[in-house]
Amino acid sequence: MPTLDRSKFKYNAKVFEKTCLYCGTVYFANRSTAKYCSSTCRGYANQAKHLNEAAPWDETDRTVDALLSQVAYLKGQLQHYINENEALKTHLSKVEQTSKLAE
Ligand SMILES: [Zn+2]
Repeated sequence: MPTLDRSKFKYNAKVFEKTCLYCGTVYFANRSTAKYCSSTCRGYANQAKHLNEAAPWDETDRTVDALLSQVAYLKGQLQHYINENEALKTHLSKVEQTSKLAE
């Protein structure tokens, strides 16, 4: 099954946002060389190769690939900061409550 959710990986994990060369699904992979979203698509693509049919999606350009993996990394960073911000807000409201009680 393709991993469609960036948060399935650690926020600082090296993750590559890839487009499946067979079905075009955008998914996350931990290998930069990943080509297909699932073993099902890999199987179909191999069949298509044998039948001399071109896969519906062309190999992604290197630059696009690099940008997509950067995007995937930044999404992880962003989620990390959102979580951190939530934790700080919770902490702040607790501190405020405590200082009100002390008055
Ligand atoms: Zn696929």
